[in-house]
Amino acid sequence: MSNPEDYTVGWICALTTEFNAAIFLLDKLHPDLSSCAEGDTNSYKLGEISGHKVVLAIMPVGKPGTTSAATTANHMLRTFPNLRICLMVGIGGGVPSDRNDIRLGDVVIGSPTNNGTGGVVQYDHGRAVHSQKHLKPSGHLNQPPEILLTHVGALGASYEREARSITKTVETALQGRSSRIQRKYTRPDAETDRLYRPGFAHEESDKTCTQSSSCFDADPSNLVPRRYRDEDEFPKVHGGLIASGNTLIKDATRRDELSSEWEGDILCFEMEAAGLMNNFPCLVIRGIADYADSHKNDEWHGYAAMVAAACAKDLLSEIKPVQVKDVLILKQQMDTIKEAVHEVKATVDEIHSGHKETEVKDWLKAPDPSTNFDKGSSLRSEGSGTWLLKEPRFIDWKAKEGRPFKFLWLHGIPGCGKSVLSSTVIDNLERCAGCEPLLYFFFDFSEKKKQGLRGLISSLVNQLYRKHPKSRTEFERFFNEEKQRNGCGTTASLKQLLACLTEMVKVVDQLWLVIDGLDECTERDYGGKHMHEGLLAWMKDFFSPGTSCNIHLLVTSRYLEDIRSSLEVWTDTKSWINIQSDLVSNDIGNFVRQSFAVGKGLDRWAGRIDVQLRVITELKEKANGMFRLAACQIDVIKDCVDEPSLDRVLKSLPKTLYETYDRMLKAISPGYRLKAIRVLQFVIYSTTPLRLDEVVDIIAVDLENEPPFRVQNRMPKPEDVLLFCVGFLMIQDRVEGTSPSSAVKYLQLAHLSVKEYFASGLCSIPDEAISNIHSQLSESKAGVVQTSVLLAYLLHAYRTCPGTALSDSSKRHEM
Ligand SMILES: [Zn+2]
Repeated sequence: MSNPEDYTVGWICALTTEFNAAIFLLDKLHPDLSSCAEGDTNSYKLGEISGHKVVLAIMPVGKPGTTSAATTANHMLRTFPNLRICLMVGIGGGVPSDRNDIRLGDVVIGSPTNNGTGGVVQYDHGRAVHSQKHLKPSGHLNQPPEILLTHVGALGASYEREARSITKTVETALQGRSSRIQRKYTRPDAETDRLYRPGFAHEESDKTCTQSSSCFDADPSNLVPRRYRDEDEFPKVHGGLIASGNTLIKDATRRDELSSEWEGDILCFEMEAAGLMNNFPCLVIRGIADYADSHKNDEWHGYAAMVAAACAKDLLSEIKPVQVKDVLILKQQMDTIKEAVHEVKATVDEIHSGHKETEVKDWLKAPDPSTNFDKGSSLRSEGSGTWLLKEPRFIDWKAKEGRPFKFLWLHGIPGCGKSVLSSTVIDNLERCAGCEPLLYFFFDFSEKKKQGLRGLISSLVNQLYRKHPKSRTEFERFFNEEKQRNGCGTTASLKQLLACLTEMVKVVDQLWLVIDGLDECTERDYGGKHMHEGLLAWMKDFFSPGTSCNIHLLVTSRYLEDIRSSLEVWTDTKSWINIQSDLVSNDIGNFVRQSFAVGKGLDRWAGRIDVQLRVITELKEKANGMFRLAACQIDVIKDCVDEPSLDRVLKSLPKTLYETYDRMLKAISPGYRLKAIRVLQFVIYSTTPLRLDEVVDIIAVDLENEPPFRVQNRMPKPEDVLLFCVGFLMIQDRVEGTSPSSAVKYLQLAHLSVKEYFASGLCSIPDEAISNIHSQLSESKAGVVQTSVLLAYLLHAYRTCPGTALSDSSKRHEM
């Protein structure tokens, strides 16, 4: 009776032919086991090769594939607890190429290549994404055990000096067997090894590709010419990449396509190894039975199985049994792998707890309003907004003395420059000693995280935490209590945030708070069933005089009915300031004046005060209090190189913002039009700002071509994106991570009114080009294009850079 604990070498086969070949090669056959571990359904043959006790296991018949292989291996490990090395031995489909002269009956051993691969790659994780057409390299699997790799080298040397020979090993194994077995496992006639050109497919689907098939009679030019190999050169042993997956490759074109995705390093395709390599270290040995093409032919199966098994036997003969005893048993090897993973995780956890601030940041997931502040500041010119800073109500609002709750509402028409004013106020408060802590937030149509109550509250908590030590202590107390009571979860709930902010504000004496763009908040419903249902209800609760600390609150928005009626309930209408057009006119004047000083293009008029005055007067009048309109018009005026053209443009300046946008669309040169449409299709409907490098890739995708994405089609200078549709877009730097140098460029719409303009689908001047662009920018049309472009792009990412690029972009685009 055999003792399962004696066996140190596992040997797995998928097919009966392979299993029998292995049995023929055993030096000694041992009696079967009396019983297996519970639930182990494998069938085994036990025996000995060069002093090694070997377990041969066969996978369930008719169930090829990586999962089946993994199950077989796991059963085997439970029944034979002392296994130390594992071999996967059988047949595979060869990938012949100019570089690799692979013939039927050759052997491939999966071994690491120079670029750090593990010997086996998995090719078919991408199957679900794109039907059967494209398979994706999903990465390299574990390395084979070192002791095996070392002896693969030694084996190669033995073959070279003819100390060993596969042919001899096969002959010895077949000696004295029946003629039927000899026929099946001996090398077929060299004439039957035919390599057809990839374009020449096997036609008769009901017939295998044997001498009787029409392929044999076809024009010999369909065969790939190969150099003559001497008898004693057979079989050759190759070391390199084996591609493993659950899809049978039986198409030469696909075989070569896949191989090229791994830079031609793939020598062989098979269907089991990936299931093993991920679980524990093993070595894969494959005899080449076909060329993974449509010319299916079983003639070489027996011999290919035999050479693979012979090679495995020769390898074991190179290794002394005592050397194997030194190897960790497989179970422990697996535990070591698991432990290493745990250790890494523990270290990461430690880093986390050591950095409270990171933890807090993660919990809050607070959006960063400083990007909006920067954007507003960049549009601000010297002296802009001074009318507000001099306004008595503002001076009173800002002052420390006086009432415990002070409020201002700045309201105005779209495009009047509210966000610029907010930036002016924040800047003014930051320069003012004693106006702290100062908190601010910008609701932002272009960024989903900045459109709801959650974004506002989490950002306020985060700012207070950083700016006010007493609140920080309060926060930590709250955070720890909440953690003990409910387990904080990975992300704070809105309820937790609101309670937290209330606690923190209690310990603050005075607080300055600026909230910009209430109308860009999408959750402002007032008077809902729940107390904190929307922004307006929450504001009333939180700020109503007498219920909170000494807060100076300034908000800006359009004059919308729901905002007005809600504020009317709890604020004094005397604290509402209309951003009047004549006040803004001064700001516009300043802005235009500044543009002459620094603006690219306008500086050509630096010496012409008369021209400058004329432009300023004209723009102030035409813009009629709309800051945004003036900003767009400056973009047009920039292109005027002489006075007559300048006069012409000034005379015909559009009066409304939408008309301005119409003209800006019309001005897009036909050569840029398609690119402009593509960019807008993405930017208008994106819920988060797009990274500039992503936009560059989006533009580079050409859906009419195959492949649709080529790296060389990327624009060399990403900022040139702005040229496609001047005035509609802007680039913004955002600091990501802790280092200020880690700024990332983002592309977004220049103004909320741009989004509204395209949503309206209206053009105020009848023009075919403009209405054509509008129709391309409908939400449904844009959606279709977005999906196609992203699919094409992801496919590229799949092929070239498995893992990272894909998960990153698909997450960002919420596909
Ligand atoms: Zn054929």
